[in-house]
Amino acid sequence: MSLFAGLRATPNDPIFGLTDRFNKDTDPNKVNLGVGMYQDAHGAVPLLKTVLKVENGLDAQGLPRPYPPMDGLADYNREAQKLVFGADSPAIAAGRIVTAQSLGGTGALTVAADVYSAASPNHAALVSSPTWANHIAILQRAGYTVGTYRYYDAQRHGVDVDGLLADLSAAEAGTVIVLHECCHNPTGYDLTREQWDAVAQLARDRRLTLFIDMAYQGFSEGLDEDAETIRRLVADGLTFVVGSSFSKNFSLYGERIGAVHFVCADADEAERVRSRVKTAARENYSTPPLHGARIVTTILSDEQLRAQWVEEVTAMRERIKSMRRALVDGLNAAGVHDMEFINTQAGMFSYCGLSKEQMELLRTEHHVYGTDAGRLCVAALNPGNVDYVATAIAAVRS
Ligand code: PLP
Repeated sequence: MSLFAGLRATPNDPIFGLTDRFNKDTDPNKVNLGVGMYQDAHGAVPLLKTVLKVENGLDAQGLPRPYPPMDGLADYNREAQKLVFGADSPAIAAGRIVTAQSLGGTGALTVAADVYSAASPNHAALVSSPTWANHIAILQRAGYTVGTYRYYDAQRHGVDVDGLLADLSAAEAGTVIVLHECCHNPTGYDLTREQWDAVAQLARDRRLTLFIDMAYQGFSEGLDEDAETIRRLVADGLTFVVGSSFSKNFSLYGERIGAVHFVCADADEAERVRSRVKTAARENYSTPPLHGARIVTTILSDEQLRAQWVEEVTAMRERIKSMRRALVDGLNAAGVHDMEFINTQAGMFSYCGLSKEQMELLRTEHHVYGTDAGRLCVAALNPGNVDYVATAIAAVRS
């Protein structure tokens, strides 16, 4: 009998399950808003012009493919670090930030979870309710008991700040708290500066360990603006970890390219953490991939290429914002006047407030696919589908 005879299949990933249904749908008007990828005005995942230019140059050079170091290319790590913490960060100069190349934002959390696990007194973690599902899965795999803190306030279309602060106040010292730096996935609601200050104060007082997930740098207000909270926490002397990703802002989803950054108390602690990070990388996948790292390093270290890339990030951000506005305009035109809150959200996603049943009606009656929880990828809207989607939402609400 096969070793796998008694193995039960894991439940279908809800997002990939949606895509399956979408692919089978033969309606010409169908729209997939379940995805987590930015699409351009023609509905395609873009290859950025800057990336293409650099790729052509790399091809022409015909570079060999040796193993990179376990923690990634040093030049890459330096550039990734500057993008998150600012080129003139005193903490970088003091050598107290350990940065390692990771397999996207997912890999950043995987490595961080292993290092936390080696240091953690209680193996407890809290994530926002709701959050990106992999936060829970990855921490559980590393041996953590994962609970939630209150976050989404459906009635007020925003963040339940009192609930959040109360739940963090009740957390045991050493608990890992996962927070989204910007463009909260799935809700689209972010913390204000004052709310972040209150979280930072609690983290200090209660000795909580923050993991700040920044998968969407540049998609809310700007590359520097979106990293502002992290830079303030560093200036305030907090020690914490950041996961950053180039999947979205370089449109390099399939290259698995990101970074994990440990903000340590001093350079000595940083060296010890670095050895743990290398071990975590080696035991998980040995060494990270080269291609995406070479592309990102070349762009970030060249003034002209970098400027061109910043323009492309700006264009993606502006396009998403214009689609939010167009959706709200379309809803207004279709007689729905209480969904202005979509314009107060940030990033690729919108919690639109529809029920599970309404989301199913959207699929069956109108061929518009979002998640059961009401998450729509506004970055997949375009001038050709936005009015259709607005009319469909209006119809299922009536
Ligand atoms: N963190 C959050 C909050 C995300 O939404 C995502 C992707 O959807 C990730 C991490 C993973 O990013 P990556 O694709 O770079 O692994």
